[in-house]
Amino acid sequence: MPEEKKIITRFAPSPTGFLHIGGGRTALFNWLFARHHGGTFLLRIEDTDRERSTDEAIAAIFEGMRWLGLDWDEEPVFQFSRQQRHIEVVQQLLAQGHAYYCYASKEELDEMREKAKAEGRPWRYDGRWRDRDPSEAPDGVKPVVRFRSPDEGETLVRDHVMGEVRFPNDQLDDLIILRSDGSPTYNLSVVVDDHDMGITHVIRGDDHLTNAGRQSQIYQAMGWDVPEFAHVPMILGPDGAKLSKRHGALGVDAYRDMGYLPEAMRNYLARLGWSHGDDEIFSTEQAIEWFGLDTVGRSPARFDFAKLESLNGHYIRQADDARLAEDMLALMHRLEGWEIDETFREKVAQVMPAAKERAKTLLELADAASFLRVKRPLSLDEKASKLLDDGARSLLGKLHGRLSDNDVWETASVEATVRSFAEEEDLKLGKVAQPLRAAVTGTTVSPPIFDVLATLGREEALGRIKDQAA
Ligand code: GLU
Repeated sequence: MPEEKKIITRFAPSPTGFLHIGGGRTALFNWLFARHHGGTFLLRIEDTDRERSTDEAIAAIFEGMRWLGLDWDEEPVFQFSRQQRHIEVVQQLLAQGHAYYCYASKEELDEMREKAKAEGRPWRYDGRWRDRDPSEAPDGVKPVVRFRSPDEGETLVRDHVMGEVRFPNDQLDDLIILRSDGSPTYNLSVVVDDHDMGITHVIRGDDHLTNAGRQSQIYQAMGWDVPEFAHVPMILGPDGAKLSKRHGALGVDAYRDMGYLPEAMRNYLARLGWSHGDDEIFSTEQAIEWFGLDTVGRSPARFDFAKLESLNGHYIRQADDARLAEDMLALMHRLEGWEIDETFREKVAQVMPAAKERAKTLLELADAASFLRVKRPLSLDEKASKLLDDGARSLLGKLHGRLSDNDVWETASVEATVRSFAEEEDLKLGKVAQPLRAAVTGTTVSPPIFDVLATLGREEALGRIKDQAA
């Protein structure tokens, strides 16, 4: 049996903005594919646009990847640092006749563009410097270097997702590979880096499909193996239109700040364009075991916030209480400056089992725990204050008396007291529990009321009841 080639994939973001959710999905697919095959997953920062690349964006990429749990295997490669190597390859292509200097002036190019427009066809460079001798070069024009793309035949890209994609060669014009300022362009740099990094599979968004055609030609001219390609359809909004901010076109960091768990994001993003039968909920281990390019769909997936939320709710319910409390507190500390001491931490952990049954995000968990942060006397929200009319306040007065006799302050004993009080008063439990909740939380929604009372502790709970009692 021939030895199987080690799989090497890469994620190659341009650090010009946040790590976009689509980028997160591309990274995940590359990571899953590499992990599935016991291969290597590399990270390359494509920072050649010096104006637009920022350190903050680079940091956001690292952080977003770490948060998503997508570990890369070697030191990240910074594309700009490899510029000399890229130029070397341009020189090689020039020497072999696969590239040439082009001295076409801006005016000439504008003219070509105008003409194409007038004739209603897409503009292409007409190859006027292909066969001219550089001795004919006009004075004072700094040339670009163009790749001599084959004029006849077609370039075939065998794509694992899109199938066989054919580009008639006369439709791919002679691409600039070195600008007049001496900087190499994207298609050239990507080919050189992917080759030098030994990338076997290029998995990326289908906005790069045409580039795959152009890049294949450069590989061939260099006599290099063309990697396998898999171009994944873009993520669309729920309405089938381009994904808008409102519908989820946000940075990975925004999802983190909205209180999603990384394992829920991984599960959700994996299902955006890839499937394994009807499985909707699966662990990362299962995704690694099942992932393959043949089950990536050809039609674009639609982003659905409601689905992500319900998936997140599932992972929250499954998560360990202490970990949830930690994650939620760290998030609220970062977003809202919550002060966290030991007592608070313990109390938060106590309400987690009840709170996580209903919460869909860490922010909802924070909401559920916020009754622990408010200070006496509580300010009541509108519904709570409406509920606490005179009758309710005098009921709370009586109940305060009864609860004060409770020596043991635990969920079950407090519940027993409130239940028997309701019975004695000939009231349904809700008629007592509602004003009680309003008094001790200042709101009408909270984790189960007896858990709330127990967690607050005797003194604080009785104090809050008394504050509202008449
Ligand atoms: N840097 C390119 C981008 O962010 C990706 C290049 C590639 O994957 O080939 O769109």
